Amino acid sequence: MSFSSLGLSEEIVRAVTEQGYTTPTPIQLQAVPAVLAGGDLLAGAQTGTGKTAGFTLPLLQRLSSVERVKINGHVPIRALILTPTRELAAQVEESVRVYGKYLPLTSTCIFGGVGINPQIRQLKQGVDILVATPGRLLDHMQQNTVDLRNVQILVLDEADRMLDMGFIRDIRKVLAALPKKRQNLLFSATFSDEIKSLADGLLNAPAMIEVARRNSTVEVIGQKIHPVDRDKKHPLLAHLMKTNAWNQVLVFTRTKHGANKLVEQLERDNITAMAIHGNKSQAARTRALSEFKDGKLQALIATDIAARGIDIDQLPHVVNYDLPNVPEDYVHRIGRTGRAGATGSAVSLVCVDEHDLLHDIERFIKREIPVEFIEGFEPDPKAKAQPIQLRSGGGGGGGNRQRSGGNGGNGGGNRSRTQQPGGGAQPQAQSAKPRGPGKPQGPAPAGPSRGPASRPSALTHRSGGRGR
Ligand code: AMP
Repeated sequence: MSFSSLGLSEEIVRAVTEQGYTTPTPIQLQAVPAVLAGGDLLAGAQTGTGKTAGFTLPLLQRLSSVERVKINGHVPIRALILTPTRELAAQVEESVRVYGKYLPLTSTCIFGGVGINPQIRQLKQGVDILVATPGRLLDHMQQNTVDLRNVQILVLDEADRMLDMGFIRDIRKVLAALPKKRQNLLFSATFSDEIKSLADGLLNAPAMIEVARRNSTVEVIGQKIHPVDRDKKHPLLAHLMKTNAWNQVLVFTRTKHGANKLVEQLERDNITAMAIHGNKSQAARTRALSEFKDGKLQALIATDIAARGIDIDQLPHVVNYDLPNVPEDYVHRIGRTGRAGATGSAVSLVCVDEHDLLHDIERFIKREIPVEFIEGFEPDPKAKAQPIQLRSGGGGGGGNRQRSGGNGGNGGGNRSRTQQPGGGAQPQAQSAKPRGPGKPQGPAPAGPSRGPASRPSALTHRSGGRGR
């Protein structure tokens, strides 16, 4: 099946062909005809599936196939795409430009963290397609600097993330400002009750599409665990980057402070690195991302929120410097590599504090990740787990949530964790995870059959036949 047989115009097919796309991905195969038909759409798809082109291509086609009528001399906004993060907004708009390069359509992108005045000027000139994050769009609505009365197509991209990030009220206010008659496309990786209720109120007899969840497609990504002591992670990362000549590595840390510290440490090793996280200005984030994409930076150090939506073609290496405390984030992180069919590698540097987190991740992805000890960096088998600090000190509500990592690498069945709030210690196999509101539950636990003690021992001892 080719793009032209999906009913897309020659201009659009030419643009995607220039991107090197030869065949539509499964989500594109289903979404393009559904959107071209003009009805509403509910699509279950994650980043990495080609979903952006899945809604952008037919959207471009629909807008370009009718003559644009100016209103009071201005080009009216006919399509509105809402995304959860600034990075995703910028990338979606970039895709709109790339796929629409042979079409006479205009677009712009608005998000917070940057000056509002250039956006106001841009909006005054008029655009066909507006990509926005909900908060900044609302600012413009309140200042009367955006006119949404002519929107014909609305896209909610990564709707579950928008709800997770607390945007539901903003979204509802935006919806109230749109014309009643329009086409609605809702993309979400997961379907919580909140998403279902949003979809129920928004969509009219939608076509429904679901493509494979990411955690069933991670097979293309080579995953590995390198056990290491907590204070040896940085030299191990530098060692891996140098000996394997890794020149473009996306590294995840748990906290913003951890990201900043790692940048300093890598720079001392003559490895070029920058951090991208919520405390960085938008200009600094954009610069870091573009230098990384251009190959000027060897390492981009990111926290989970900042990394959402980062789309870099063929990113070869992802490193979990710290394991995430939510298993879904592991899948999102490693999904930054091995995109759209490319292969990639994802390595996790795991210290004794993180054995519980690893256990939860392996249950979630329903597989054990191969372990490989690196000569000279083997962890001390007697090391004791310490509580993990989940957030950088100070900033933001919620305080520092801590979680114990069990009581030691070799411990027997009596491992416990501190839980919050009101959780109490739970046996590992049935632990209730700390999750944000509305966070989806993972697939039904069907983890590998092994006692809770066997994995820690495999992670601290070279013997036992694992790895390699
Ligand atoms: P997305 O899920 O929209 O974030 O897209 C993931 C990646 O797949 C992006 O880097 C796209 O450039 C790429 N991509 C999208 N569609 C195709 C396709 N049909 N063939 C190859 N790569 C694609």
